[in-house]
Amino acid sequence: MKYYSTNKKISGVSLQDAVVKGLAEDKGLFMPDNIKRLPQEFFDTIETLSFQEIAYTVADAFFGEDVEAEALKEIVYDTLNFDVPLVHVNDNIYSLELYHGPTLAFKDVGGRFMSRLLGYFIKKQGEKNVNVLVATSGDTGSAVANGFLGVEGIHVYVLYPKGLVSPIQECQFTTLGQNITALEVDGTFDDCQALVKAAFMDEELNSKLKLTSANSINVARFLPQSFYYFYAYAQMKSIHPKLTADELETVFCVPSGNFGNITAGLFAMRMGLPVKRFIAANNRNDIFLQYLQTSEYKPRPSVSTIANAMDVGDPSNFARVLDLYEHSHKAITSEISGVSYTDEQIAETLKKCYSETEYLLDPHGAVGYRALEEMLQESENGIFLETAHPAKFLETVEGIIGEKVEIPQKLQEFMKGEKKSLPMSKEFESFKKYLLEL
Ligand SMILES: *Cc1c(COP(=O)(O)O)cnc(C)c1O
Repeated sequence: MKYYSTNKKISGVSLQDAVVKGLAEDKGLFMPDNIKRLPQEFFDTIETLSFQEIAYTVADAFFGEDVEAEALKEIVYDTLNFDVPLVHVNDNIYSLELYHGPTLAFKDVGGRFMSRLLGYFIKKQGEKNVNVLVATSGDTGSAVANGFLGVEGIHVYVLYPKGLVSPIQECQFTTLGQNITALEVDGTFDDCQALVKAAFMDEELNSKLKLTSANSINVARFLPQSFYYFYAYAQMKSIHPKLTADELETVFCVPSGNFGNITAGLFAMRMGLPVKRFIAANNRNDIFLQYLQTSEYKPRPSVSTIANAMDVGDPSNFARVLDLYEHSHKAITSEISGVSYTDEQIAETLKKCYSETEYLLDPHGAVGYRALEEMLQESENGIFLETAHPAKFLETVEGIIGEKVEIPQKLQEFMKGEKKSLPMSKEFESFKKYLLEL
């Protein structure tokens, strides 16, 4: 399969190049030339398949032409060595728990898949000493670092802003050792991102080092997120064997920041997954909702909220949404609706849901749950994507419910490790010098 750029100046790119490059040269995002519809029999018997089997079928539709079957199967099975259960929360509302991976956030799915696929291509090219640079404001760094941990021939540099990520997030990428190096940048997330970008633009660096990126716009991180939409449908079918085809058409509600997760869901729908409609749930950063309401897209600086992984003022995957719907505002609004909540509303929802149902949401999931509570019709079933474990936002969640939150074993293990990071100035020259002296 070939890939084209959303800016339309570049096309015919191989999967390998799209994955290694990340972003197209015209600064657009890569899109697959076509989205294959899966056969009806797949949906008729999907509830008899495991998550890994379902994911492999979906992965084959995207990557089967470019990756040998055995290798692709290994990548998929290895990536998804954890469950993504669908849990009933209240009335006709279900939670798709995406936080059972190693770093307890949904980004594990894309991060693990991309690291393995990149490792596969690098091995094929016979490359050694590939350096992956990734800037993080929290969750991305840990998912990517854990995904690449121990992968031969690849070294990962995680750049993060000093003092601006939560202690739990920080220990998830600073205690790993091996082929992971954490760089603690004396600046903001934007400074980290600027350093990474400058490194990719620097001719001298690129002539001496093999550099690649692991950001969220990479097709290998984004497409695998469609796997679990199919698995959610399969679980819905097995929980309710008597539901008619109409009733099985679910409303998916996705807490959204950069819109990668929801865009993967839109791809799943194009592949034939029965979906009634999507809701993009936002915190106060409501640029997408504004677009739906006015048909004007006006990015603006993000404001910080308690659902901080969604504090995005210019969602990068919006370009993919536009491309998918051929820039038709009407087509977009017919399949996707939006909503935005304040921190007070998020906290109130988290607290109320916990006291009424004993289900503990994280601040991002709370945005999704509330949207379904308000927007679901009685005849509909709704699934919100629970994108992270509540313990990742310990102080916030404990403050809201007034109770201690149990920290999962997996998270405790990270916290035991010794933090190791190198201090780094936000000036490019010193970052460059460091890389050149490696
Ligand atoms: C990244 C993230 C999101 C937003 O996902 P997008 O794909 O950027 O829309 C939501 N919740 C959590 C916990 C995240 O880490």
